Amino acid sequence: MIIELKPALAGLPEHGALQLLWSILPDARLVGGAVRDLLADRPTADLDMATALPPDETQARLHERGIKVVPTGLAHGTVTAVIDRRPYEITTLRRDLETDGRHAIVAWTDDWQEDAARRDFTINAMSLGRDGVLHDYFGGAADLAAGRVRFVGEADRRIAEDALRVLRFFRFQARYGRGAPDDQAVQAIAAAVLQLSRLSAERVWSELRRLLELPDPLEVLGLMQRLGVLPALLPESRDQGLARITALVALGGPVDPVLRLAALGGPADRVAARLRLSNQEAGRLATLASGVRPDPMLDADALRRLLADEPAQALADRTWLVQADRGDTGEGDAAAWTMLRERLHAMPRPVFPLSGRDAVAAGLPPGPAVGLMLREVEAWWREGGCLAGRADCLERLARLRR
Ligand code: ATP
Ligand code: MG
Repeated sequence: MIIELKPALAGLPEHGALQLLWSILPDARLVGGAVRDLLADRPTADLDMATALPPDETQARLHERGIKVVPTGLAHGTVTAVIDRRPYEITTLRRDLETDGRHAIVAWTDDWQEDAARRDFTINAMSLGRDGVLHDYFGGAADLAAGRVRFVGEADRRIAEDALRVLRFFRFQARYGRGAPDDQAVQAIAAAVLQLSRLSAERVWSELRRLLELPDPLEVLGLMQRLGVLPALLPESRDQGLARITALVALGGPVDPVLRLAALGGPADRVAARLRLSNQEAGRLATLASGVRPDPMLDADALRRLLADEPAQALADRTWLVQADRGDTGEGDAAAWTMLRERLHAMPRPVFPLSGRDAVAAGLPPGPAVGLMLREVEAWWREGGCLAGRADCLERLARLRR
């Protein structure tokens, strides 16, 4: 069956850049996710290409035509062409010589089917040539139409080659799967759970994050739990983690991978270390997991006190977890929590108006007493809902000294 995707190609904003690349590398094809998403009529992320030319040859030809080329991954055959400030990865066709469950040693090839055979799923193994013709060696188009995420070849062998494919399976199942997941894949995954411990934390988090970025990952997370995958990747999570993220998604919480990870749970420091989160992500996870838990019943004074200690965003983020823990999914409950978040964002952050310099200017001898006195005034300021201005605080300070 010949499928023509010319109109889809012509509709891409990057059409011009693709035509330019194709005029230089006529044999090149779009591969992987771009082809899948063009076919599924979904927005395409990166437009990756493959070519039978070896990487130095690809690089030379692009250079010759004045295109900026970055040798992003020469060792595994990838150069990146930059056109109109957008990157296009162009990778030489590969076949695997050796795999060990985590890395592969590859050789170049000029055989498109060989390159497709080392890709993970049939829906990710199609390619699309300059003429707009789809090359589909393993039935990816039919699988995509039917919502079937299926390994290219035998699932257990493909997982033994690279255990990360287990996680990728769940990610693509959540995104493109309809109905029951592929039986062969499920069996192979259940048998491969022990292999997961060998994966690097970075690769695991990078896939898990992309799964948690999907609008509704719940069904797949439930499957991961039942198959023992979630406990193997995140032993901190336990059953209540799944219940919590289920509640969070059910109540319409933001599609935010770190917030969802916080819901999946476990002690923040251990989760951050296990997944080797970036400092920024680890910081957010810690903030989400600890600190005051805001409540819709709090009055304005109490909210100002919270805001004096933490930014509105950190508090608002945490409200989602508290709401999920309380199971406040009813309409009335949800409205109260929405109102709380709106109040937090609308309120200016109170800042205690005095500093050590003010105290000294007011005649206090410099020394440890300054700090003590200021803290006392600040406690009074907080007590009053962080409303007192500078003049009132100075007056309070003066009164304390008497
Ligand atoms: P997305 O739109 O989420 O980026 P994608 O299909 O582009 O989806 P990538 O992770 O960017 O996914 O990978 C690009 C392509 O490389 C895949 O479509 C697949 O063909 C291949 N691929 C990536 N990782 C693997 C892997 N671990 N094993 C086999 N093939 C892989
Ligand atoms: Mg991609």
